[in-house]
Amino acid sequence: MLLDVSHLTVRYGGQAPAVSDVSFQLDNGEIFAVVGESGSGKSTVLRTIIGLLPENGYIAGGSICFAGRELTGLSPARWQKIRGNRIGYVFQDAGASLNPVRKIGSQFTEFIRCHRSVSRHDAKDLELDIMRRLNLSDGDRILRSYPSQLSGGMKQRVSLAMAMATGPELIIADEPTSALDTVSQAQIMRELLFLKESFGTAILLVTHNIGVAAHIADKIGIMRSGAMLECARAEEVISRPKAAYTKRLLANVMKLNEAPSIASARSGKVIFTLENIAKKYATEDGKDKTTALEHLSLKIYDGELLGIAGESGCGKSTLARLLLGLEKPDDGRVVFRGADMAQMSGPQRRAYFRQAQMVFQEPASTFSPRMKIGAVLREPLKNFRLKRPNAQQQAVKDALEGMLLPAAYVKRYPHELSGGELQRVSLARCLEIRPEIIIYDEPTSALDATIQKQVLEDISKTHAEHGLTSILISHDIALLRQVCSRIAVLYRGHVAEILRGEERLSDIRHPYTRELFGAAYTLDANAARPAAISEDCGSGDAAAGCVYYGRCGRREEACRQSMPALTDYGGGHMCACFLTDGGNDDLLG
Ligand code: SF4
Repeated sequence: MLLDVSHLTVRYGGQAPAVSDVSFQLDNGEIFAVVGESGSGKSTVLRTIIGLLPENGYIAGGSICFAGRELTGLSPARWQKIRGNRIGYVFQDAGASLNPVRKIGSQFTEFIRCHRSVSRHDAKDLELDIMRRLNLSDGDRILRSYPSQLSGGMKQRVSLAMAMATGPELIIADEPTSALDTVSQAQIMRELLFLKESFGTAILLVTHNIGVAAHIADKIGIMRSGAMLECARAEEVISRPKAAYTKRLLANVMKLNEAPSIASARSGKVIFTLENIAKKYATEDGKDKTTALEHLSLKIYDGELLGIAGESGCGKSTLARLLLGLEKPDDGRVVFRGADMAQMSGPQRRAYFRQAQMVFQEPASTFSPRMKIGAVLREPLKNFRLKRPNAQQQAVKDALEGMLLPAAYVKRYPHELSGGELQRVSLARCLEIRPEIIIYDEPTSALDATIQKQVLEDISKTHAEHGLTSILISHDIALLRQVCSRIAVLYRGHVAEILRGEERLSDIRHPYTRELFGAAYTLDANAARPAAISEDCGSGDAAAGCVYYGRCGRREEACRQSMPALTDYGGGHMCACFLTDGGNDDLLG
């Protein structure tokens, strides 16, 4: 037995246990997936195992035995010896764990020399060797790059290579793909499998996605509210779940061959026109600039539910900020109902801020933890002088009831609500202002399958009932396909393809979009584990050509020379690719 966690209980300060009586075992060469929504305690379990609990966190009971040695009660110095050496770890956001102003090679060398007494030269050899063994082609170029020059998926693969450089027996991966598109997610999962099969490395994977766990794990543990609800071999949990929560999770996993219930079609009236938009940001050291959006043109129609898909760093959040009027493009125009947003006067801008609202990824981080829900919902009524003080109480009650939440929630604090309920409060707060446009920024990315489905239904229902124009941003294209009337697929600041909601999977044309769908970990009856996907060669391979060139499995010499234009293939289905044959094969294989 490599890792034996027994009756583990963890608390933060004097609060109720964040993790309560959790037990599981992991053998050499096994993958154990801990599945649960954000707040279920799964990340606390991981942080406890690697000795990285925050200051007010402590082990209140139980034991953690790693390779025959008890870890609870170890001094920080002893933890330091195990962490990074015998237990490697990969965090959720590789971008945040890499220093943006230092090249990958220098960070990699520093990591190795922290854990091994080797010369810089030998460290470099080790870096190239591990990258070669992990099929990271062009290791030299990657080591010479800054993090901002690599895609999100490539940064996470570099993190994995670093974690493997010291030859650990166990890799702990905390939601390593939650910010990545499905293609990059499949690539990371393939690499975890490769580590297990080639090096016998055990992997403890935390994920909110039971579809991923079903495809790659040997064992699955389901966590909720700090407790392990069930823990067994993966096939047993998937085919014979015991806990009602697990049954609901499995029933609500997105399926690609399920007919989508699309919210509404476009009206034909344009509300936003983005004309040849370019936006760059300075790197943190101020010496360089990274491109967020380039030559981006897009029309958004009144009353449509538009999905924006792509991996982290593709420009979708920049697009949202431009639409909200929080930023101006460096080049090009954002036109709202015929008027250039950059030319809005102060009063016009203030009026616009009421018309367009945003729902964020993590509602908990947008609420003060010390404000009760009633006060949260009273704020916009006061700030925008929408209701007299004596009418506010009733308006708050109505707002809660409108989202099917009990009126008694006015007395609750945000931490007393589930992730899905908090997202409903966010929506209720937006709707109080009676906006015309709502932009949702990854509203479901930290939620489990059941709550994800509820939130999608809420978005769809709100969109229809309030006659809104809605823009739903997500890295998960299978999720967008469930409700959106159109989906714009972004890749490195460019529109790769615009799909209609009713598009058949076989009509999808762009190699990137096809890979996004083909790499989704679904539980469709005939879905196999996502197949080998094209190698990510990073950026810079074809500066003048197609932005997807470095990663495209179907690239040709012509793709290096010039950028394909976004071409209409009929009915608003647009694609930026020189290929004319589309796909025509079954994406579910
Ligand atoms: S233009 Fe070429 S490189 Fe770009 S997506 Fe199409 S086939 Fe691939």
